[in-house]
Amino acid sequence: MAKVKLPVQKNQKITATIADLTYEGMGVAKVEGYPLFVQAALPGEEVVLHVLKTNKNYGFAKVVEWITKSPARVEGNGNAYTQTGIAPLQHLAYAEQLKFKRKLVVDLLKKAHLEDLEVAPTLGMSEPLHYRNKAQVPVRMVDGKLATGFFRKGSHKFVALKDFLIQDQRIDEVLQVCCEILQKHGISAYDEEKHQGTLRHLMVRRGYYSKEVLVVLVTRSAKLRDAQQIAQEIMATCPDVVGVLQNINSAKTNVILGETTQNLAGKNEIIDELNGLKFKISAQSFYQVNPTQTEKLYNLAIEQAGLSGQETVIDAYCGIGTISLNLAKHAKKVYGVEIVEQAIEDAKQNAKLNGLANIEFEVGNAEDWMATWQKQGIKPDVIVVDPPRKGLTESLITSATQMQPQKIVYVSCNPATLVRDLQSFMEKGYHVSAPLQPVDQFPQTAHVESVTVLERKK
Ligand code: SAH
Repeated sequence: MAKVKLPVQKNQKITATIADLTYEGMGVAKVEGYPLFVQAALPGEEVVLHVLKTNKNYGFAKVVEWITKSPARVEGNGNAYTQTGIAPLQHLAYAEQLKFKRKLVVDLLKKAHLEDLEVAPTLGMSEPLHYRNKAQVPVRMVDGKLATGFFRKGSHKFVALKDFLIQDQRIDEVLQVCCEILQKHGISAYDEEKHQGTLRHLMVRRGYYSKEVLVVLVTRSAKLRDAQQIAQEIMATCPDVVGVLQNINSAKTNVILGETTQNLAGKNEIIDELNGLKFKISAQSFYQVNPTQTEKLYNLAIEQAGLSGQETVIDAYCGIGTISLNLAKHAKKVYGVEIVEQAIEDAKQNAKLNGLANIEFEVGNAEDWMATWQKQGIKPDVIVVDPPRKGLTESLITSATQMQPQKIVYVSCNPATLVRDLQSFMEKGYHVSAPLQPVDQFPQTAHVESVTVLERKK
């Protein structure tokens, strides 16, 4: 087969105008219809590009010079946040980020011939920085010292950072205190190439309301010199740290946490609140990272569910029960299902902690439990789904719709699978009864979270 000549070659320099942003927040320049993806470039900008890589249908380039800049560009944060993927949209004004997220949903609906569905403006934050309540950062040796940072996207090049831009600033401070104390005790950082050294990652969680902090030292082996003393010193220097744990990860892997976690000092978990409900959060628990936006998201989901106190509700993909407990305050009975066993143990404890007795939690596959509940004759008035990025399966949608709930509330972290699943619900007798509502859970990144309510056709 003859090799097709591409309109651009690797290492070529060309001038182009950025036409669009991808769902990952990369700029797109089209050269004779051939798309080049460009980091940190914004629509409307005229740029000189250096072509880095060409595939058959698309390529990658980087900006060597800006001829014109977008009025929506924000300067001053530095490139590291874009390069590392910590905050790939930090160079775009926040109001424009919110529009971009709404447009992603609108465009996906259009592609699926669902352009009749309305999409509300994205619900944003008033202070869209320093919102993350959890940090997991790699630690490496830089100039003979322990340093926190991040890797460049798609590479293992370490970029040292102390200010992580989107993390709770107290978390950033605690990370530095930990580094200093570990340094003083002569603890070495992990060396990926040689698979040597001790400290791989630091993980820190902080309760937004409780202000409690949990520190996890992730080490390559169980051996951590002066472990207890280090933990005591961290707690003495930071009185808000309620517990220090050691997690052991001896595998050659990108996965951050290993299987074993042991307590070095204090507690194994922190408590935080959402909408006045208390939640126990351990090192490994899944817990939403943006507390104030999560409250907005959940309140919206609850409002959309239209509960009066008499309803039976299913919360599929319930995690540690955060949505379930919120629902339980407004419903007669809530059933939650979640595949991670530890999460369900936490969910049960959380229900007790808040004195809520009208919830039943089950461990397992949402698909299987949905079918089981259907067979048991459970008749939910409302089903809430909050699936991972891959969305729902046909079998789940089938069992859910066969139970004929009045409403289905879909909390989605991936608009592509949301739109696919909405089509399926619409074929099975449901219609979208209110504008789709994007909620910005991850400012400065390209992630789009949203709530959609479906109702059964009469
Ligand atoms: N609603 C929760 C968790 C949402 S994240 C919250 O807001 O905190 C999605 C959850 O779905 C995760 O906890 C994940 O472990 C769980 N999960 C993934 N696949 C699943 C499946 N097939 N069945 C049930 N739960 C699943």
